[in-house]
Parts: sequence; C-alpha cells; structure tokens
Amino acid sequence: STEMGTFAEVIRTHAATRGDAPALSFEGRTQTFAELDAASSRAANMLLAQGVVKGDRVAILTRNRPEYFELILACSKIGAIVAGLNWRLAPVEIAAILKGCAPRVVLTSSQDAGLLVKAPGHVVVSLDTDYPALRDAAPADDPGHRGAPEEPVLLLYTSGTTGLPKGVTLTNRNMSYTYRLATESWGMSPDSVNLVAMPMFHIGGCGYGSSTFMAGGHTVLMAEVDVARAIELVAAHGVTHTFLVPTVVQSLLNVPGIEQADLSSMQLLMYGAAPIGDVLLSRAMEVLRCQFMHAYGMTEAAGTVVVLRPEDHALTGPKAALLKSCGRALPWVDLRVIDPDTQTDAGVGKPGEIWLRSPMMTRGYWNAPDATREAITPDGWFRTGDAAYLDGDGYVYLFDRFKDMIISGGENIYPAEIENVLNAHEGIRECGVIGVAHEKWGETPLAVVVPKDGAQVSAEGIIAFCRDRLAHYKCPTRVEFADTLPRNASGKLLKHEMRKAYKGPADA
Ligand code: ATP
Ligand code: MG
Repeated sequence: STEMGTFAEVIRTHAATRGDAPALSFEGRTQTFAELDAASSRAANMLLAQGVVKGDRVAILTRNRPEYFELILACSKIGAIVAGLNWRLAPVEIAAILKGCAPRVVLTSSQDAGLLVKAPGHVVVSLDTDYPALRDAAPADDPGHRGAPEEPVLLLYTSGTTGLPKGVTLTNRNMSYTYRLATESWGMSPDSVNLVAMPMFHIGGCGYGSSTFMAGGHTVLMAEVDVARAIELVAAHGVTHTFLVPTVVQSLLNVPGIEQADLSSMQLLMYGAAPIGDVLLSRAMEVLRCQFMHAYGMTEAAGTVVVLRPEDHALTGPKAALLKSCGRALPWVDLRVIDPDTQTDAGVGKPGEIWLRSPMMTRGYWNAPDATREAITPDGWFRTGDAAYLDGDGYVYLFDRFKDMIISGGENIYPAEIENVLNAHEGIRECGVIGVAHEKWGETPLAVVVPKDGAQVSAEGIIAFCRDRLAHYKCPTRVEFADTLPRNASGKLLKHEMRKAYKGPADA
C-alpha cells in the first residue's frame, strides 16, 4: 500500500510487527515502538479523562521532547487535534493563537510555562511535573479511534514570515503522504535513523520528523538545534538522514574541525524551507560528502512538494546549473506557474506564481474562511505566493515571495537574487535586501549587511560588487550595516520587520 493511514494506525502496526525496534531517542533514552504505543495509549486515556473529545484541540508549548510524538499518537487514538505552539513567540502572540484554536488542554514545559497568559477555558498540564504521573496512572488500553481520511489531526502554524502565523488544518490523508515522501522520495526504511533537529511546532520538524517514524525507522530528537551536539548524535546513533534549514547548514560548516567530523553514516542531507546560496550549498557538498536533496514546501502542503534529487546535485558538468533549481514536483503533486496578469499558465521560462494541487494540500486555515477562500481556488489550487519559473523539463526555479518583490522603475526585482550575489562577497556574513521608497524609481533595493568579524567593507564597495554581477537596475542603491538580522524559527528573514526598521526615502 502507498498510504500508511493515520498516526494511530501506524503505531499500532509498528508495535505489532516490530515492537522491540527503537522508535525514538532523546537525551540518552530510547523508546521502542511497543513502549511508544503503550505510552500513547495511556496519554490518550489521560486526555479523555481531562474531557478531551473527538475534534478538540490539544495544544503543546515546549521545545522538542518525546512527549510530542506521544501526544500526536495519543490524539490520533481519540480523534483530537494537536496544535503546535511556537515557544519563540511573545505571550500576546501565543494568547491570540490560543484564543483562535481554543484548546481543551495545553501541555507545557516548566521552561515555557511563563509564556502562557492565564485564560479561562483550558486546563494547563505541566509536562515536567503533572504529566508523567497522570499518564502513568491512566489505563493502558488503546481507545481504538480509527480516524477518517478527512478528519483533522494537526493544527500547525505557518512561520509568520509575511505576517501573522496562519493556523493550517492538516488531515489524516494529508499526513499519510508523509509515508510516501519518506519511502518513495527520501529512501527511508525501517533501517533509517533520522535526526530531527528542527522544531516540532513547524512542519519542518513535525511533518519531516514523522517521516522515519512512519517508515518504521529510528527517530533521534533534539530539544533545540545545536550543531556540535548534532555531530555527536550522528556518530552515536548512526544517523542516516536529517533535514536542516540553510542557516543551520551554515552553522554546521562553521563548527571547528567539521572537515574531520565522522559523518560516515549519513546517507542524505535534506535542506530547504528558505533560499540557500550557491556558495553555501557547494561548500556543504564539498565538506559533508553525503547525498543532498533540496526540498521546497510549506505548512499548507503538509511539507515537501518539490525535490531536487541527489542525482541532480553535481558541482561540475552539464547538470551543475540544476543546483539553482529546487527540483521537480513529486508524482502526487500538480504544480503550475501562473502569470499574475493573465491568471493562466505562464509558459516555460516565464515567471509567475506557483499554484499547487495535491492530496497533501490543506483544506484550509483554521477558523478563517476568508483567508481560505483567498488562498485556495474553487477547484482546489493553492496559491503559494511564491514566484518562480519552470524549465522545459519541469524543474522549478524559485525567485522569491511576491510580497517581497521590489518594483523599481517598472522592473520586477527579486531580493533573493541580490542576496545570493551578496552572500558570495567574502566580507559579508549575512544580508537581507528589501525595497524602500525612492523618489524617481518608486522603490529601490536596500541591502542590510552584517559584515564578517574584522572585514573591511564599505557601502560603495558592496554596490560596486553587485554592479559587476547584476543588471544595474537590480543593484542596491543603499547599504546599511547591522550586527544581526531578524529571523524566525525557520531561519527566515523577517522582511516586514526590516521594512519597518529601514523605511524612509533612499538617500543615495
Ligand atoms: P507565512 O506563511 O506565515 O508568511 P512561511 O510561508 O514562511 O510563513 P512556512 O509554511 O513555514 O511559512 O514556509 C513556506 C514558505 O517557505 C514557502 O511558501 C516558500 O516561500 C519558503 N520556502 C520553502 N521551501 C523553500 C526552499 N527550498 N527555498 C526557498 N524558499 C522556500
Ligand atoms: Mg506561507
């Protein structure tokens, strides 16, 4: 079968067929599939005792920990919906999300409990103090809910890169495709060992993190990403797969002695969720020497929809140009690039907006019919807001988000293209480009640059560097220096914050 079914069915199957195999490791402790099955049944009964019924939300506010898996499985066993909350948000933002999803129970760590504003209507259970005893006192029998394909099982929030995070409802069917992704695209099997370092409250942690579990392999979970520790975990557990966002790939390469690290068990490093620069990617391929796969996806698609496969990762030769692509749509994903002016297919080589249709696609945003209608066409196409073009072989070349596009003198400029050029500058640690008002051109690119320690860089030098490598109309006319750039948990630049900080006319 190509579909594995619900989370609950998956754990029941694994417990029955490979109960003694390692399922989940965290900070030196390993649970087998049988143990995880039993713990999740107890957790399910605990939730029932708290009054949780089918369709209720159960919110989790914590750094990664094994209880995340236990509770997702528990909720699947009773038909409840797990809402993952981002612990990097401010208390008011968390309060707004909780108001929207109205959970029956909120489970939180002691570390993050302070983020909860007292509100009526939900029970708070501390994962560190109350939960273990409550769970262990609950009966061990599986409540037995089977779950229909269209039933929601997860409520995950988008990264909030372009505005407020949006709650995305994901169904059993949506998530069941994680099994196909894992086995058909990522080459995972019961022998795979997957290091999950990205946060479980995002699809990059939760969806990707479910993949090896679905395939019957061993998941190694990290509380938070820590690249030095990740290297140790790879050697200790024989990690075969991982997914890292580009900022984390960069940190990994910065670990002293990375060239000598024992990463020999690694089969596949997946990267994506944000643009990766050419320089970073080629250095990673040279240093890490495993197979690479680029993933493009989003919360609304329950994860990855486009991949650039390992065989398309060549640093030299005729295929090298493919490294600028994020790959081709998966077999169960229909992808179109739509011309914003005509609302029809843009045609090969012409930029437009990526539209997607797939059984992985959400049916809509939580409690937000207007936002859902805006995002999903009546015949089921999701408008991603991402600008791209397709080549003749179906490879997707992403530019950037339409919302970040700069229109200067009537020309469209994608900041990601300028950022990619700047990232190759030897004096620049990181950068972000935004559009700012310009008297003559309407808008003009402003580059905000974080120089490397001790680097001698000037605004004029940086502009000249761009002029050698980009069409003149695309070159920044203004450069500002900063110590850091605002990023979210996925390592994405928060352009709206940058625009707020640097608004005002260009003075160049
Ligand atoms: P919000 O929707 O709240 O503004 P977000 O879009 O960043 O936040 P996610 O669902 O986590 O929230 O991310 C999906 C988006 O991330 C995609 O629409 C795309 O813009 C970007 N993205 C995903 N994969 C890649 C990739 N491989 N390369 C470049 N950008 C990517
Ligand atoms: Mg989005």
